Amino acid sequence: MNPVYLDNNATTMVAPEVLEAMLPFFGELYGNPSSMHTFGGEVGHRLKKARADAAETLGCAPEEIIFTSCGSESDNTAIRSALAAQPDKRHLITTRVEHPAVLSLAKHLEEKDYEVTYLGVDEKGRLDLGELSRAIRKDTALVSVMYANNETGTIFPIPEIAALCKERGVLVHTDAVQAVGKVGIDLAELPVDMLALSGHKLHAQKGVGLLYVRRGTPYRPFLIGGHQERGRRAGTENTAGIIGLAKAMTLAHDNMVEENTRVKALRDRLEQGILASVPDTIVNGDPDNRLPNTSSIAFKYVEGEAILLMLDQYGICASSGSACTSGSLEPSHVLRAMGVPFTFAHGSIRFSLSRYTTDKDVDLVLEVMPKVIDTLRRMSPFNEKTPPKQACTC
Ligand SMILES: *Cc1c(COP(=O)(O)O)cnc(C)c1O
Repeated sequence: MNPVYLDNNATTMVAPEVLEAMLPFFGELYGNPSSMHTFGGEVGHRLKKARADAAETLGCAPEEIIFTSCGSESDNTAIRSALAAQPDKRHLITTRVEHPAVLSLAKHLEEKDYEVTYLGVDEKGRLDLGELSRAIRKDTALVSVMYANNETGTIFPIPEIAALCKERGVLVHTDAVQAVGKVGIDLAELPVDMLALSGHKLHAQKGVGLLYVRRGTPYRPFLIGGHQERGRRAGTENTAGIIGLAKAMTLAHDNMVEENTRVKALRDRLEQGILASVPDTIVNGDPDNRLPNTSSIAFKYVEGEAILLMLDQYGICASSGSACTSGSLEPSHVLRAMGVPFTFAHGSIRFSLSRYTTDKDVDLVLEVMPKVIDTLRRMSPFNEKTPPKQACTC
């Protein structure tokens, strides 16, 4: 089983160097980092080094880092903390294209009598900063905007957004899960109060994440218990995970130029090749401001799921932009927010590359894709004369 793995925005392979760094913590280094004895203390010492390494890649202080269990926990903690620390402020601003880690929480908070403003995006997935500025109110507790979109790769102007929020005295959080390692982030320069990232999106393992909280930011812990993470997140540390995450962040940091040149060139070759060989095809997102590894391509008149199933037979892993829920074929909330035409939104496929993607991987997709789409279009009941019904109600 050696797939052509082009689904790196869903999860990534653990880098061999990361695995190697973690292994001792599954073996001899099993001590509790909080213990008084030398045996546990040694693990505590390694953890401290990992925290410093992670901080260095982000341009922040080690004390500003809270290790968590995943990106979702980091996002939840940031948002819930901002609300709990400012009980008189009951308004939250976010976007319509966030990951469910933010969007589903925002919906949940609306049921708890918080008010949420969801900023829209244009056809390229871009935000309107004027709309953001107008949405900020006296009782706005937090602005939460993702750094880069996981489906289209569109990058949001977080430096400008953060500066605007600072000017207006509002806390700002960014879900940078897809951005870290792909976009240069320097927290010494970027005035966000909080930032979330996740290990398994950058070649560390699943079950570890990180929340950056700028010094002085009002904060209320989500997990209450022991005094780990300076009392900001209880629970005995996931030592192996944290060691792996720090290693992965260092590798990602050191590989950034590679990601932005070789990986981008591969992505562009893949995208241009498909556009040239398959008619009625468009690219979703902002071509000028996009993650270097992501390509979301829409094929008119075919179902994304059908494309994925056929690609799977060739050992190609990609992802569909639409989630098919209980019989109602519903295009992704991101593509809907962008107003991607219905006939395209249903046939959207996301390819997300990594630094392990090869020329051969791209060659195979380019060879297979025209055949796959041609086969599906022959079978498709939809065409120019009978487009699919606008069945989407949500
Ligand atoms: C994957 C992802 C998350 C969630 O991270 P987990 O570690 O899987 O909880 C949050 N935001 C974005 C943008 C993501 O891509």
